[in-house]
Amino acid sequence: MMKAGKMADLLNVDAALERILAQIEPLQAEDVTLTEAFGRVLAETVTADADWPPFASAAVDGYAVRAEDVAQARPEQPVRLAVSLDIWAGRVAERPLGVGEAARIMTGAPVPEGATAVVMVEDTDAAWGDDPKAASLEQVAIYQAAQAGQNIRPSGENARMGQALLAQGRVLRPVDVGLLASLGRASVGVYERARVAILSTGDELLEAGQPLEAGKIYDANRYALEGLVREAGGAVLPLPIARDRVESVREVFQAALAAHPHMIISTAGVSVGVADVVRLVLDELGQVSLWRINLRPGKPLTFGYVRGLGGHVPFFGLPGNPVSALVTFDVLVKPALLRMMGRQDKPRYAQAIAGERMTSDGRRSYLRVRLHEEQGRLVAYSTGTQSSGALMSMVLADALLIVPEDVLVIEPGAEVQVKYLSE
Ligand code: AMP
Ligand code: MG
Repeated sequence: MMKAGKMADLLNVDAALERILAQIEPLQAEDVTLTEAFGRVLAETVTADADWPPFASAAVDGYAVRAEDVAQARPEQPVRLAVSLDIWAGRVAERPLGVGEAARIMTGAPVPEGATAVVMVEDTDAAWGDDPKAASLEQVAIYQAAQAGQNIRPSGENARMGQALLAQGRVLRPVDVGLLASLGRASVGVYERARVAILSTGDELLEAGQPLEAGKIYDANRYALEGLVREAGGAVLPLPIARDRVESVREVFQAALAAHPHMIISTAGVSVGVADVVRLVLDELGQVSLWRINLRPGKPLTFGYVRGLGGHVPFFGLPGNPVSALVTFDVLVKPALLRMMGRQDKPRYAQAIAGERMTSDGRRSYLRVRLHEEQGRLVAYSTGTQSSGALMSMVLADALLIVPEDVLVIEPGAEVQVKYLSE
């Protein structure tokens, strides 16, 4: 077991993250129907298996013509064509368009062979524009000349055969699912959702809804972390609160393992107090691989694994203070969770100006800040107390301001880096 030490013995945040990520394996892929695909992570690169759409279609209601037949058409000297075809959306013309002929055509209907342009109904003497069910004319007067290709959506306008459309690792947005549907896909390969067991530990914790008792507090961490896990695309396994005794923590760990989690996250009980039993249980059921990070808040963060039924389950022991738990999740757990689910997106950083004086203790600090645009610059202000127990400091925050290692004071006006808290 690693021993508590001075600041110099603490593990650098970037090195810790690298070591954590090296131990994270991507989950399996699974096929889901399009109804379940929104928000999931693509496990395949989707390519067009044909030119899409596969046929040229009318972009307006009107008349498909041979452009050269109407080259001389003008309002005062219309060209009259025989209407030989009537093509509705979803139907294909029974024969090609002949010279001197027009085909009545509806938006989205396939352009018949031989036609090179579509003249919109407003540029003809046809009156069915208001009533497409009206019978077609025997003859139509065309009032405007048409260029070849006019009002025709070419085949392959959306995608060319073999073209990569959606890359592996992409989180599927509504429009992506629409695209998949338009390509005729009924299902898609996505990474499995990470099943995450979140366990709160502490004698002082009450479940939401229980009457308040002297000296007790409500469990906030599990609810906040559940939201973060779900926001990252994971699913949360329900567990009871563990008490500050080895038997209780062991029991809840075993309940977690029985649900076949892909990751276990606990909060509290990883400091050096006498009641900090999580690490004792971890020594028994798995192994600690790193502990004590040069991070503020979040120094006691513990990472390791628990021996599960199907192999090693990555384990994060987060500090108990709610802000510490959320910051360490953001900095170290979320990247692991995203990697597990195959996601390629990276955290969003920005350069900002410190709006006020801020201090640190030499560890890399993540301070809760609000961001304001002032004269085209992003200015960061503290959200108030930076106590790691004060959840409101996090509620009010847009971003975390990163104070590098060994920096004790940030003066107003200094250039700083901020990390956005939501995408
Ligand atoms: P510990 O890591 O056990 O020393 O806890 C550090 C601080 O976080 C203590 O003030 C705990 O009461 C508080 N704390 C621990 N777990 C939670 C929780 N689930 N929700 C809110 N506060 C907590
Ligand atoms: Mg405690």
